[in-house]
Amino acid sequence: YRLMLEHSRQIIAGIKLAKKASGCTKVIIAIEDNKPRAIKVMYAALRASSGSENISVTAVKTKYPQGGERQLIRSILKKHVPTGTIPPMIGVVIVNVATAAAIAEAVIFDRPLTHRVVTVTGKAVAKPSNLYAAIGTPVKDLLEFCGGVTEKSAKVVMGGPMMGIAIADLNMPITKTTGSITILTKDQIGKAKFERRQTACIRCGRCLEVCPENLNPTKIAHAVKYGRLDIAEDHYISACIECGCCSFICPAQIELTGHIKTGKIFIAREKKKMPE
Ligand code: SF4
Ligand code: SF4
Repeated sequence: YRLMLEHSRQIIAGIKLAKKASGCTKVIIAIEDNKPRAIKVMYAALRASSGSENISVTAVKTKYPQGGERQLIRSILKKHVPTGTIPPMIGVVIVNVATAAAIAEAVIFDRPLTHRVVTVTGKAVAKPSNLYAAIGTPVKDLLEFCGGVTEKSAKVVMGGPMMGIAIADLNMPITKTTGSITILTKDQIGKAKFERRQTACIRCGRCLEVCPENLNPTKIAHAVKYGRLDIAEDHYISACIECGCCSFICPAQIELTGHIKTGKIFIAREKKKMPE
C-alpha cells in the first residue's frame, strides 16, 4: 500500500517494462476498493506518464482471498486458470507492485534487489510500521525497531495471519518475498486453537464450501496424514493456494492447510525439486 502511495511513478515504469518484456497488449492495475487513496494516486501517476495507452486502473472488491493470481484473473477477466496450469498458459501474467517497482530499480537504475518494504503489524506490536529493510535483516531487529512486542504477543508470523508461517526463531532473516510480519495475540489465535483442542472431522463440509479452488481439503489433508500422496495428487493438492480458509473455518480445529503444505513439500522432494 505504501509503495503505491510513495513510489507510484516507479511502479508505473516497472509495469511498462514488464508489458514490453512480456509482449502483452493490455494491462490492468487492480487495487482493492478499500484503498481509495492508492487508486487515486496510481491513476494520477498513470495519467501523468506518457505511453500509458492500454494501461488502466480498476478497483476490485475487497475480500479474502482476492490477491492470488487465479482469484484476480477470475475476478477481473472472468477467465479460469485450469488446474495444473499457470496463468501464462492462458495468456495472462500477474505482477505485484513490489515486483514492478523492483523491475524499474533493476532496469532503469541498475540496482539489484537488496531491500524491500516490510509491514510489521499486529495488536501486540508497540509501534506497527512499514519499514524499508535490507533483505537478510533478522526479524528480531525489525521488531526492536518497532518498539518490541507487548506481553500479549503469542505468535510471530512471517506473512499475514491467514497465509503466513509461524516462526520459532526471531533470528530468522527476511527474504525478498517477506511482505509482512504479523504478531498475533492469544485472543486472535483463539483459545481453542491456542490450546490445540483438535477433534475428529465431523464431515460438516465447511472446508469444501469455502475453498476458493473448489478442492476437497479434508480429503487431501487426510491423504497426506496417512502418507497417501498419490491420493492427495489425485485430488489436485498442487492447486491449493494455501489461503488458510479451510483451517480457519474448520470447527474441529484441524490444521488442514498445515497438512496440505506439508504434503506439497513431500511431493516436491519426491520429485527431487527440493533438497532434504
Ligand atoms: S488452503 Fe484450504 S481453502 Fe485454501 S486453497 Fe488450499 S485447500 Fe482450499
Ligand atoms: S471443516 Fe473440518 S470438520 Fe468440517 S468436513 Fe472439513 S475437516 Fe471435517
